[in-house]
Amino acid sequence: MAGLGNPDFDAFRLLDEHEALREAVRALVDDKIAPRAAEIDETGEFPQDVYEALVAADLHAIHVPEQYGGQGGDALAACIVIEEVARACAASSLIPAVNKLGSMPLLVSGSEEVKQAYLPPLARGEGMFSYGLSEPEAGSDAGGMRTRAVRDGDDWVIDGGKRWITNAGVSKFYTVMAVTDPEKRTRGGITAFVIEDGDDGFSYGAHERKLGIHGSPTRELYFDNVRIPDTRRVGDVGDGFGVAMRTLDHTRVTIGAQAVGIAQGALDYAVGYAKERKQFGKAIAEFQGLQFMLADMAIKLEAARQMVYVAAAKSERGDADLTFFGAAAKCFASDVAMEVTTDAVQVLGGYGYVKDYPVERMMRDAKITQIYEGTNQIQRLVVARQLLAKH
Ligand SMILES: Cc1cc2nc3c(=O)[nH]c(=O)nc-3n(C[C@H](O)[C@H](O)[C@H](O)COP(=O)(O)OP(=O)(O)OC[C@H]3O[C@@H](n4cnc5c(N)ncnc54)[C@H](O)[C@@H]3O)c2cc1C
Repeated sequence: MAGLGNPDFDAFRLLDEHEALREAVRALVDDKIAPRAAEIDETGEFPQDVYEALVAADLHAIHVPEQYGGQGGDALAACIVIEEVARACAASSLIPAVNKLGSMPLLVSGSEEVKQAYLPPLARGEGMFSYGLSEPEAGSDAGGMRTRAVRDGDDWVIDGGKRWITNAGVSKFYTVMAVTDPEKRTRGGITAFVIEDGDDGFSYGAHERKLGIHGSPTRELYFDNVRIPDTRRVGDVGDGFGVAMRTLDHTRVTIGAQAVGIAQGALDYAVGYAKERKQFGKAIAEFQGLQFMLADMAIKLEAARQMVYVAAAKSERGDADLTFFGAAAKCFASDVAMEVTTDAVQVLGGYGYVKDYPVERMMRDAKITQIYEGTNQIQRLVVARQLLAKH
């Protein structure tokens, strides 16, 4: 067939630019982030120094297009940044990941005015973005949200609250979904807005005390008569649920990348340890029982990585099957991250179970990837819907 047998065959490999980006991120991570990871986990404080290092290297929000002062990194580039940071410190990887999550609604449907207002400061590192969809009574069923936005002349007045908001309190900008028509709800009754830190009536709840990702603050947002101009609206009135879902199609891929990074960090550590640790007079890596375990970890991890990269390419192109691939990649990669990190603890035996070694942190951090941006039950639901609609 024409076109096949091309001597310059170049499919199924990353561009040289992507590989160069990986090397650059890895160098920064080895220098500035990896040595801090255990301490960030221990103190639970947001790593301002890591944020500043990422900003200095233009890696904190690589996805922002060049016309808004950003790097214009494609979806695969964003995944590589997140993956490489997560390989050492999952909490720190939420800086680039949530900057993308919070600003993606603007990119998928914001007016030029709202993009011009918020994307340049994000790109310059003057303020991070967060994403406010979930509420105490509206998690998987996000359409059940109660936060209300009522129009008042050229303004909107917002009342209610959001729960589980990543980087709350350290971000400057919050894309928040609110009910604008209680009759219509998910069918045209929800609208997205940008709320700014410091807006009158906007405050934060206490820090959640979490299993993992300790260096990434998770807090509630409270809105008490927060008055904002209509220029802060993101997308059309009533399109907020669609905006939220289209955003997640793109950003679930980045959670897949985070999961791949966490798993890679754990596998790397386990392999190094297995070659050093001696029992019965030889390195434990010489036992076939352990070799098979390491092999399975590597096989699953590589499958997850390839799936995430394909989904990232679909995100960049805006392919029609992105919904399927975004959900499938996030679901598969996060399940793999949980398995691989748990096995890494097993490879280290008792040493895997204590904080002197990084794999117990990685196992705790991996768990969240199965929960946020939609639990893996919800991802399977999304995948099944896509599958059944097709056949
Ligand atoms: C650390 C952390 C950070 C987060 N960051 C953010 C953020 O930045 N922004 C944001 O908006 N949200 C964020 N979230 C919220 C997260 O997306 C929700 O926790 C998640 O969507 C699940 O909602 P829920 O916790 O209310 O669980 P529930 O929806 O109550 O689910 C409980 C269980 O029921 C299952 N379930 C629910 N419905 C179904 C169904 N139809 N079929 C099968 N099983 C089902 C779920 O899979 C789960 O196992 C974060 C959460 C955490 C823990």
